[in-house]
Amino acid sequence: MVIKLAIIALFVYFGWKAWHAVLGDRPRPRVAERKPVRQLVHDPQCNTYVPEQSAERVMVRGEMVYFCSPECRKAYLKRIEGETTA
Ligand SMILES: [Zn+2]
Repeated sequence: MVIKLAIIALFVYFGWKAWHAVLGDRPRPRVAERKPVRQLVHDPQCNTYVPEQSAERVMVRGEMVYFCSPECRKAYLKRIEGETTA
């Protein structure tokens, strides 16, 4: 009787171990991979937002100004020039 119980206990023990081993080996679903943070910057010329990495940039009066295209940068600088000289 006691031996029977011991055998059952052993089976339960090994069963539990095997079950845990299977669970432990299971590849975990990956947490959403980190995406590089894309910071949007404001284009004061055409009033749009562009990702900082791909933005045209120029230093104006000690401040970095971003643009969506070289055309916008040119236009903005021209405008700024007119404002400062006028
Ligand atoms: Zn623009």
